[in-house]
Amino acid sequence: MIRFNVPPYTGNELVNVKKAIENMHICGDGEFTRKCSEYIEGITGTSKCLLTTSCTHALEMAALLCDLKEGDEVILPSYTFVSTADAFVLRGAKAVFVDIRPDTMNIDERLIEDAVTERTKAIFVVHYAGVACEMAAIMEIAERHHLKVVEDAAQAIMCTYKGRPLGTIGDFGCFSFHETKNFSMGEGGALLIKDPSYIEEAEILREKGTDRSKYYRGQVDKYRWMNFGSSYLPSDMNAAYLYTQFEMADEINQTRVARWNQYYELLSPLQQAGKIELPTVPEGCVHNGHMFYLKTRDLEERTRLIDFMKKKDILTVFHYVPLHSAPAGLKFGRFHGEDRYTTRESERLLRLPMFYQLTEEQVEYIAGAVREFYEA
Ligand SMILES: *Cc1c(COP(=O)(O)O)cnc(C)c1O
Repeated sequence: MIRFNVPPYTGNELVNVKKAIENMHICGDGEFTRKCSEYIEGITGTSKCLLTTSCTHALEMAALLCDLKEGDEVILPSYTFVSTADAFVLRGAKAVFVDIRPDTMNIDERLIEDAVTERTKAIFVVHYAGVACEMAAIMEIAERHHLKVVEDAAQAIMCTYKGRPLGTIGDFGCFSFHETKNFSMGEGGALLIKDPSYIEEAEILREKGTDRSKYYRGQVDKYRWMNFGSSYLPSDMNAAYLYTQFEMADEINQTRVARWNQYYELLSPLQQAGKIELPTVPEGCVHNGHMFYLKTRDLEERTRLIDFMKKKDILTVFHYVPLHSAPAGLKFGRFHGEDRYTTRESERLLRLPMFYQLTEEQVEYIAGAVREFYEA
């Protein structure tokens, strides 16, 4: 059976995890948390990276730093993971969903401005499959209406838009290191902060509302309760697992992109024959091979393809059920404008197995099975 996902593993993780244990520092903000943050700051150029317990928590921190509260509105795509919305719904803000572009499955930047009201405070964008949203247009709208921009870059580490790393373009960027992502620590994430004036507030928020981060750096002689906060810092053992993968980041990234390109090449004839659609990567976007998907004609054909692949011992999965049609979406949000693509395209999309340990032979076998389905 070819699984849909296998958690990333290089084989060296235990060496660093053991080191974290021997350091006698297994709580947060030890050697490996620092190394991971510095690594991310190095590859992205962000002012500050704070490792978190999940991307969900990074998004929650972003919502708090944007000061989102009851009565505020946030514009986002409906085709996303629940965490994008949970982050600010938890603060009492309302979700205003707009339609996606069918080519990238990202928020349609041309529909955002029409959804802006006097209550709108932020735009939460999602870089689906590590392919960037049209950030130039989005930042321009945000500037015009004084809105904050939060990038849910859960899938988008090591991706760029016109040369700029994703997660660093908006006010805040959020990465995920869940086991389904390109680099993992089991559960974990990171918050990227663009404007340095938010760093202190973010550090306090992450450390239960205290200035313990300053205390650790020797900047204050005792730490105190400074503001509201929570516990958003991961164990250094988990960070040690993640850092091991950062030590091989280029190799992991290149392998995934190679598998992605192989899928694309092998399935292109089916696209040319008009049987399926393959992902679009607009000019100026560099992705990280996070996900490979194809689109079938419709839901019925997708269901048959999933069954066919299962018989070939291959697990393929669909993705998000649009948030606006889910029970919580009806309660906490509304869809602005027409749902032309969100529902329709989500019903056609099918993800093929994609993970670091996936072999060339497996990709060949999987693509062969898809071709067999359509040639039958
Ligand atoms: C994975 C993912 C998340 C959640 O990440 P966690 O680290 O599991 O909290 C949020 N948004 C998107 C788009 C994701 O893909």
